[in-house]
Amino acid sequence: MKILILGAGPAGSSTAIQLLKNGHQVTMIDRAKFPRHAPGETLHPGIEPLLKQLNILDETLLSAPLRHLGIENIVNGTSTFKAYNEAENWRGFQLFREEFDTILLNKAIELGAVFHGGVSPTKVNYSIQGIQSIETSTDIFEADYFIDATGKRAWLANNFAIKFNEYSSKLIAYYGYVKNSKHDSLHPELIWDENGWTWITKVKKDLHTWVRLDLNEHVKIGSKWLPNQLTDGTQTGIRKAVDVTWRKAKTCAKNNCFLIGDAAFVLDPGSSHGVLKAIMSGIMVAYLINQSSSQSTHTIMNQYNLWVHEQFHKDITKLRALYCEYNIKNSKY
Ligand SMILES: Cc1cc2nc3c(=O)[nH]c(=O)nc-3n(C[C@H](O)[C@H](O)[C@H](O)COP(=O)(O)OP(=O)(O)OC[C@H]3O[C@@H](n4cnc5c(N)ncnc54)[C@H](O)[C@@H]3O)c2cc1C
Repeated sequence: MKILILGAGPAGSSTAIQLLKNGHQVTMIDRAKFPRHAPGETLHPGIEPLLKQLNILDETLLSAPLRHLGIENIVNGTSTFKAYNEAENWRGFQLFREEFDTILLNKAIELGAVFHGGVSPTKVNYSIQGIQSIETSTDIFEADYFIDATGKRAWLANNFAIKFNEYSSKLIAYYGYVKNSKHDSLHPELIWDENGWTWITKVKKDLHTWVRLDLNEHVKIGSKWLPNQLTDGTQTGIRKAVDVTWRKAKTCAKNNCFLIGDAAFVLDPGSSHGVLKAIMSGIMVAYLINQSSSQSTHTIMNQYNLWVHEQFHKDITKLRALYCEYNIKNSKY
Protein backbone atom coordinates (compact mmCIF):
# COMPACT_ATOMS: atom_id res chain seq x y z
CA MET A 1 0.00 0.00 0.00
CA LYS A 2 1.10 3.62 -0.60
CA ILE A 3 1.17 5.93 2.39
CA LEU A 4 1.90 9.66 2.49
CA ILE A 5 3.03 11.05 5.84
CA LEU A 6 3.07 14.81 6.46
CA GLY A 7 5.57 15.64 9.24
CA ALA A 8 8.77 13.77 10.12
CA GLY A 9 8.81 14.20 13.90
CA PRO A 10 8.70 11.17 16.25
CA ALA A 11 5.09 10.38 15.28
CA GLY A 12 5.67 10.49 11.51
CA SER A 13 9.01 8.68 11.50
CA SER A 14 7.93 5.87 13.82
CA THR A 15 4.84 5.21 11.65
CA ALA A 16 7.09 5.14 8.59
CA ILE A 17 9.54 2.65 10.16
CA GLN A 18 6.77 0.26 11.16
CA LEU A 19 5.03 0.50 7.77
CA LEU A 20 8.27 -0.06 5.87
CA LYS A 21 9.07 -3.14 7.99
CA ASN A 22 5.75 -4.54 6.72
CA GLY A 23 6.52 -3.86 3.05
CA HIS A 24 4.46 -0.71 2.45
CA GLN A 25 5.61 2.21 0.29
CA VAL A 26 6.12 5.39 2.30
CA THR A 27 6.66 9.01 1.24
CA MET A 28 7.30 11.67 3.88
CA ILE A 29 7.05 15.44 3.51
CA ASP A 30 8.29 17.91 6.14
CA ARG A 31 8.26 21.67 5.76
CA ALA A 32 11.57 21.74 7.69
CA LYS A 33 14.98 20.58 6.56
CA PHE A 34 16.55 18.16 9.06
CA PRO A 35 18.10 18.37 11.57
CA ARG A 36 15.46 20.79 12.88
CA HIS A 37 14.80 22.16 16.37
CA ALA A 38 12.07 20.75 18.65
CA PRO A 39 11.39 21.19 22.39
CA GLY A 40 11.23 18.34 24.92
CA GLU A 41 14.35 16.53 26.06
CA THR A 42 13.13 14.37 28.92
CA LEU A 43 11.88 11.06 27.63
CA HIS A 44 9.87 8.71 29.83
CA PRO A 45 11.50 5.26 30.37
CA GLY A 46 8.46 3.61 28.75
CA ILE A 47 10.04 4.67 25.45
CA GLU A 48 12.94 2.19 25.72
CA PRO A 49 11.09 -0.95 24.47
CA LEU A 50 9.61 1.11 21.62
CA LEU A 51 13.07 2.30 20.55
CA LYS A 52 14.13 -1.35 20.52
CA GLN A 53 11.08 -2.26 18.39
CA LEU A 54 11.96 0.56 15.97
CA ASN A 55 15.62 -0.64 15.86
CA ILE A 56 17.02 2.69 17.03
CA LEU A 57 17.87 1.97 20.68
CA ASP A 58 21.59 1.42 19.94
CA GLU A 59 21.89 4.65 17.90
CA THR A 60 20.02 6.58 20.61
CA LEU A 61 22.37 5.24 23.31
CA LEU A 62 25.38 6.06 21.11
CA SER A 63 24.24 9.70 21.03
CA ALA A 64 25.19 9.65 24.76
CA PRO A 65 21.97 10.75 26.42
CA LEU A 66 21.99 11.42 30.16
CA ARG A 67 19.81 8.93 32.07
CA HIS A 68 17.74 9.45 35.23
CA LEU A 69 15.76 7.28 37.64
CA GLY A 70 12.96 9.73 38.37
CA ILE A 71 11.97 13.35 38.99
CA GLU A 72 12.76 15.70 41.90
CA ASN A 73 9.56 17.49 42.93
CA ILE A 74 10.41 20.69 44.81
CA VAL A 75 7.93 22.64 46.94
CA ASN A 76 9.07 25.65 49.04
CA GLY A 77 12.68 24.51 48.73
CA THR A 78 11.96 20.95 49.95
CA SER A 79 12.66 18.23 47.44
CA THR A 80 10.89 14.86 47.18
CA PHE A 81 12.26 12.32 44.74
CA LYS A 82 9.72 10.28 42.75
CA ALA A 83 11.27 7.25 41.06
CA TYR A 84 9.67 6.00 37.83
CA ASN A 85 9.81 2.41 39.06
CA GLU A 86 12.23 1.58 41.85
CA ALA A 87 11.81 -2.19 41.67
CA GLU A 88 12.55 -2.32 37.93
CA ASN A 89 15.20 0.42 37.97
CA TRP A 90 13.49 2.24 35.08
CA ARG A 91 15.55 5.06 33.59
CA GLY A 92 14.43 7.97 31.43
CA PHE A 93 16.54 9.78 28.83
CA GLN A 94 17.68 13.41 28.64
CA LEU A 95 18.71 14.14 25.07
CA PHE A 96 18.60 16.63 22.21
CA ARG A 97 15.41 16.29 20.23
CA GLU A 98 17.02 17.44 17.01
CA GLU A 99 19.54 14.59 17.25
CA PHE A 100 16.94 12.06 18.37
CA ASP A 101 14.41 13.03 15.67
CA THR A 102 17.16 12.78 13.04
CA ILE A 103 18.04 9.24 14.21
CA LEU A 104 14.37 8.25 13.78
CA LEU A 105 14.06 9.87 10.35
CA ASN A 106 17.35 8.35 9.12
CA LYS A 107 16.09 4.89 10.12
CA ALA A 108 12.94 5.45 8.04
CA ILE A 109 15.05 6.59 5.06
CA GLU A 110 17.42 3.62 5.49
CA LEU A 111 14.39 1.29 5.30
CA GLY A 112 13.21 2.93 2.06
CA ALA A 113 11.12 6.01 2.89
CA VAL A 114 11.28 8.74 0.24
CA PHE A 115 11.76 11.96 2.22
CA HIS A 116 11.09 15.49 0.94
CA GLY A 117 12.53 17.98 3.48
CA GLY A 118 11.97 21.73 3.29
CA VAL A 119 8.77 21.13 1.29
CA SER A 120 5.28 22.32 2.31
CA PRO A 121 1.97 20.86 1.21
CA THR A 122 -0.20 23.46 -0.50
CA LYS A 123 -3.49 21.77 -1.45
CA VAL A 124 -5.60 18.72 -0.68
CA ASN A 125 -7.65 17.09 -3.46
CA TYR A 126 -10.68 15.07 -2.37
CA SER A 127 -12.67 12.16 -3.84
CA ILE A 128 -15.74 10.39 -2.44
CA GLN A 129 -13.40 7.96 -0.62
CA GLY A 130 -11.75 10.83 1.25
CA ILE A 131 -8.40 12.33 0.29
CA GLN A 132 -7.18 11.58 -3.22
CA SER A 133 -3.91 13.50 -3.38
CA ILE A 134 -1.85 16.25 -1.79
CA GLU A 135 -0.05 18.90 -3.78
CA THR A 136 3.16 20.77 -3.09
CA SER A 137 4.53 23.57 -5.27
CA THR A 138 6.31 20.98 -7.45
CA ASP A 139 4.52 17.61 -7.10
CA ILE A 140 1.20 15.80 -6.63
CA PHE A 141 1.27 12.84 -4.22
CA GLU A 142 -1.40 10.14 -4.45
CA ALA A 143 -1.72 7.48 -1.75
CA ASP A 144 -4.04 4.90 -0.19
CA TYR A 145 -3.65 6.46 3.28
CA PHE A 146 -2.68 9.99 4.34
CA ILE A 147 -1.23 10.64 7.78
CA ASP A 148 -1.17 13.99 9.55
CA ALA A 149 1.94 14.06 11.75
CA THR A 150 2.47 17.82 11.48
CA GLY A 151 2.45 18.35 15.25
CA LYS A 152 0.45 21.12 16.91
CA ARG A 153 -0.27 22.78 13.55
CA ALA A 154 -2.34 19.77 12.44
CA TRP A 155 -2.17 20.96 8.83
CA LEU A 156 -4.14 18.14 7.26
CA ALA A 157 -6.76 18.06 10.03
CA ASN A 158 -7.39 21.77 9.51
CA ASN A 159 -7.68 21.29 5.74
CA PHE A 160 -10.02 18.35 6.27
CA ALA A 161 -12.22 20.59 8.52
CA ILE A 162 -11.59 18.38 11.56
CA LYS A 163 -12.43 20.35 14.71
CA PHE A 164 -10.72 20.14 18.10
CA ASN A 165 -12.22 20.00 21.61
CA GLU A 166 -10.34 21.92 24.32
CA TYR A 167 -10.08 20.51 27.85
CA SER A 168 -8.23 23.32 29.68
CA SER A 169 -8.10 27.09 29.69
CA LYS A 170 -5.51 28.60 27.35
CA LEU A 171 -2.07 27.40 28.45
CA ILE A 172 1.17 28.90 27.17
CA ALA A 173 4.47 27.19 28.02
CA TYR A 174 7.73 29.13 27.77
CA TYR A 175 11.05 27.37 27.29
CA GLY A 176 14.70 28.15 26.71
CA TYR A 177 18.31 27.06 27.27
CA VAL A 178 21.09 28.20 29.63
CA LYS A 179 24.76 27.37 29.32
CA ASN A 180 27.50 27.26 31.95
CA SER A 181 25.22 27.29 35.01
CA LYS A 182 26.75 25.63 38.09
CA HIS A 183 23.32 24.34 39.13
CA ASP A 184 23.55 20.58 39.49
CA SER A 185 20.97 17.85 39.98
CA LEU A 186 21.12 14.14 39.20
CA HIS A 187 17.52 14.20 37.99
CA PRO A 188 15.18 16.58 36.14
CA GLU A 189 13.50 18.96 38.62
CA LEU A 190 9.88 20.07 38.76
CA ILE A 191 9.60 23.16 40.97
CA TRP A 192 6.03 23.81 42.08
CA ASP A 193 4.39 27.08 43.20
CA GLU A 194 0.76 28.15 43.63
CA ASN A 195 0.47 29.18 39.96
CA GLY A 196 2.19 26.35 38.16
CA TRP A 197 5.61 24.81 37.72
CA THR A 198 9.12 25.28 36.35
CA TRP A 199 10.94 22.31 34.85
CA ILE A 200 14.75 22.24 34.81
CA THR A 201 16.77 19.53 33.06
CA LYS A 202 20.44 19.17 32.35
CA VAL A 203 20.88 18.03 28.75
CA LYS A 204 24.66 18.26 28.41
CA LYS A 205 27.58 18.80 30.78
CA ASP A 206 27.31 22.59 30.40
CA LEU A 207 23.74 23.02 29.14
CA HIS A 208 20.36 23.16 30.91
CA THR A 209 16.88 23.59 29.52
CA TRP A 210 13.92 25.09 31.37
CA VAL A 211 10.15 25.20 30.83
CA ARG A 212 7.73 27.51 32.69
CA LEU A 213 3.97 26.96 32.77
CA ASP A 214 1.40 29.06 34.66
CA LEU A 215 -1.89 27.21 34.99
CA ASN A 216 -3.92 29.97 36.63
CA GLU A 217 -3.92 32.48 33.85
CA HIS A 218 -1.62 33.52 31.07
CA VAL A 219 1.28 35.25 32.84
CA LYS A 220 3.55 36.64 30.16
CA ILE A 221 7.20 36.28 31.15
CA GLY A 222 9.85 38.76 30.05
CA SER A 223 12.53 37.95 27.51
CA LYS A 224 15.21 37.96 30.24
CA TRP A 225 13.31 35.80 32.77
CA LEU A 226 15.17 32.70 33.96
CA PRO A 227 14.49 30.24 36.78
CA ASN A 228 16.39 31.37 39.93
CA GLN A 229 18.50 28.20 39.82
CA LEU A 230 19.95 29.12 36.41
CA THR A 231 20.57 32.89 36.72
CA ASP A 232 24.33 32.30 37.10
CA GLY A 233 24.42 30.97 33.50
CA THR A 234 23.95 32.57 30.08
CA GLN A 235 20.86 32.29 27.89
CA THR A 236 21.61 30.56 24.64
CA GLY A 237 19.81 29.25 21.56
CA ILE A 238 16.08 29.20 21.05
CA ARG A 239 13.58 30.74 23.50
CA LYS A 240 9.90 30.36 22.67
CA ALA A 241 6.29 30.47 23.87
CA VAL A 242 4.12 27.53 22.77
CA ASP A 243 0.36 26.97 23.03
CA VAL A 244 -0.07 23.78 25.08
CA THR A 245 -3.82 24.05 25.76
CA TRP A 246 -5.14 20.53 26.34
CA ARG A 247 -6.94 19.51 23.15
CA LYS A 248 -7.96 16.54 21.05
CA ALA A 249 -9.34 16.26 17.53
CA LYS A 250 -13.05 15.36 17.47
CA THR A 251 -12.11 12.53 15.15
CA CYS A 252 -8.55 11.22 14.76
CA ALA A 253 -9.36 8.93 11.81
CA LYS A 254 -11.63 9.90 8.94
CA ASN A 255 -12.03 8.17 5.54
CA ASN A 256 -8.43 7.36 4.55
CA CYS A 257 -6.73 9.86 6.89
CA PHE A 258 -5.22 9.38 10.36
CA LEU A 259 -4.03 12.08 12.80
CA ILE A 260 -1.13 11.05 15.03
CA GLY A 261 1.06 12.59 17.77
CA ASP A 262 0.45 16.26 18.57
CA ALA A 263 -1.67 16.59 15.42
CA ALA A 264 -4.25 14.39 17.17
CA PHE A 265 -3.96 15.44 20.82
CA VAL A 266 -1.93 17.82 22.99
CA LEU A 267 -1.40 17.98 26.75
CA ASP A 268 0.93 20.40 28.50
CA PRO A 269 4.51 19.14 29.08
CA GLY A 270 3.63 18.42 32.77
CA SER A 271 2.37 15.09 31.42
CA SER A 272 6.06 14.53 30.51
CA HIS A 273 5.55 11.96 27.78
CA GLY A 274 4.49 13.74 24.56
CA VAL A 275 7.23 11.99 22.56
CA LEU A 276 6.29 8.57 23.97
CA LYS A 277 2.64 9.16 23.04
CA ALA A 278 3.59 10.39 19.56
CA ILE A 279 5.58 7.20 18.93
CA MET A 280 2.84 4.98 20.40
CA SER A 281 0.20 6.55 18.14
CA GLY A 282 2.47 6.10 15.11
CA ILE A 283 3.06 2.42 15.86
CA MET A 284 -0.68 1.93 16.46
CA VAL A 285 -1.62 3.47 13.09
CA ALA A 286 1.00 1.40 11.25
CA TYR A 287 -0.46 -1.72 12.90
CA LEU A 288 -4.02 -0.76 11.88
CA ILE A 289 -3.04 0.00 8.27
CA ASN A 290 -1.48 -3.46 8.19
CA GLN A 291 -4.80 -4.91 9.35
CA SER A 292 -6.70 -3.12 6.58
CA SER A 293 -6.36 -6.08 4.19
CA SER A 294 -8.44 -8.22 6.57
CA GLN A 295 -10.67 -5.61 8.26
CA SER A 296 -12.92 -2.87 6.89
CA THR A 297 -11.65 0.72 6.87
CA HIS A 298 -14.60 1.62 9.08
CA THR A 299 -13.48 -0.94 11.71
CA ILE A 300 -9.86 0.22 11.83
CA MET A 301 -10.88 3.88 11.96
CA ASN A 302 -13.21 3.13 14.88
CA GLN A 303 -10.50 1.16 16.67
CA TYR A 304 -8.07 4.07 16.36
CA ASN A 305 -10.58 6.69 17.52
CA LEU A 306 -11.40 4.56 20.53
CA TRP A 307 -7.74 3.97 21.35
CA VAL A 308 -6.89 7.70 21.21
CA HIS A 309 -9.96 8.55 23.28
CA GLU A 310 -8.93 6.09 26.03
CA GLN A 311 -5.27 7.15 26.05
CA PHE A 312 -6.09 10.85 26.13
CA HIS A 313 -8.67 10.64 28.91
CA LYS A 314 -6.39 8.39 31.01
CA ASP A 315 -3.64 11.02 30.68
CA ILE A 316 -5.97 13.91 31.52
CA THR A 317 -7.10 12.11 34.69
CA LYS A 318 -3.44 11.58 35.74
CA LEU A 319 -2.49 15.18 34.99
CA ARG A 320 -5.46 16.59 36.93
CA ALA A 321 -4.52 14.36 39.89
CA LEU A 322 -0.92 15.62 39.72
CA TYR A 323 -2.05 19.27 39.77
CA CYS A 324 -4.42 18.56 42.68
CA GLU A 325 -1.57 16.86 44.58
CA TYR A 326 0.53 20.03 44.24
CA ASN A 327 -2.46 22.21 45.10
CA ILE A 328 -2.41 24.50 42.11
CA LYS A 329 -5.33 26.83 42.77
CA ASN A 330 -7.83 28.55 40.50
CA SER A 331 -6.96 26.64 37.36
CA LYS A 332 -9.95 26.00 35.09
CA TYR A 333 -8.81 22.69 33.63
C1 LIG B 1 7.97 23.46 25.92
C2 LIG B 1 7.71 22.00 25.66
C3 LIG B 1 8.41 21.02 26.36
C4 LIG B 1 8.17 19.67 26.12
N1 LIG B 1 8.86 18.75 26.84
C5 LIG B 1 8.66 17.43 26.59
C6 LIG B 1 9.44 16.46 27.30
O1 LIG B 1 10.29 16.79 28.12
N2 LIG B 1 9.22 15.15 27.01
C7 LIG B 1 8.27 14.75 26.08
O2 LIG B 1 8.12 13.55 25.86
N3 LIG B 1 7.55 15.66 25.39
C8 LIG B 1 7.72 16.99 25.62
N4 LIG B 1 7.00 17.91 24.91
C9 LIG B 1 6.02 17.44 23.90
C10 LIG B 1 6.72 16.99 22.61
O3 LIG B 1 7.57 18.01 22.15
C11 LIG B 1 5.67 16.64 21.54
O4 LIG B 1 4.62 15.88 22.13
C12 LIG B 1 6.29 15.84 20.38
O5 LIG B 1 7.26 16.60 19.71
C13 LIG B 1 5.19 15.41 19.40
O6 LIG B 1 5.79 14.76 18.30
P1 LIG B 1 5.09 14.86 16.85
O7 LIG B 1 5.90 14.01 15.94
O8 LIG B 1 3.65 14.64 16.96
O9 LIG B 1 5.23 16.41 16.44
P2 LIG B 1 6.54 17.30 16.17
O10 LIG B 1 7.70 16.80 16.93
O11 LIG B 1 6.09 18.70 16.41
O12 LIG B 1 6.84 17.10 14.62
C14 LIG B 1 5.98 17.64 13.65
C15 LIG B 1 6.74 17.78 12.33
O13 LIG B 1 5.84 18.27 11.34
C16 LIG B 1 6.47 19.27 10.56
N5 LIG B 1 5.42 20.14 10.02
C17 LIG B 1 4.71 21.12 10.64
N6 LIG B 1 3.83 21.67 9.80
C18 LIG B 1 3.98 21.02 8.61
C19 LIG B 1 3.36 21.13 7.35
N7 LIG B 1 2.38 22.01 7.11
N8 LIG B 1 3.76 20.30 6.36
C20 LIG B 1 4.75 19.39 6.56
N9 LIG B 1 5.39 19.25 7.74
C21 LIG B 1 5.00 20.05 8.75
C22 LIG B 1 7.41 19.98 11.54
O14 LIG B 1 8.47 20.61 10.84
C23 LIG B 1 7.88 18.80 12.40
O15 LIG B 1 9.06 18.22 11.89
C24 LIG B 1 7.21 19.28 25.15
C25 LIG B 1 6.50 20.26 24.43
C26 LIG B 1 6.74 21.60 24.68
C27 LIG B 1 5.98 22.64 23.90
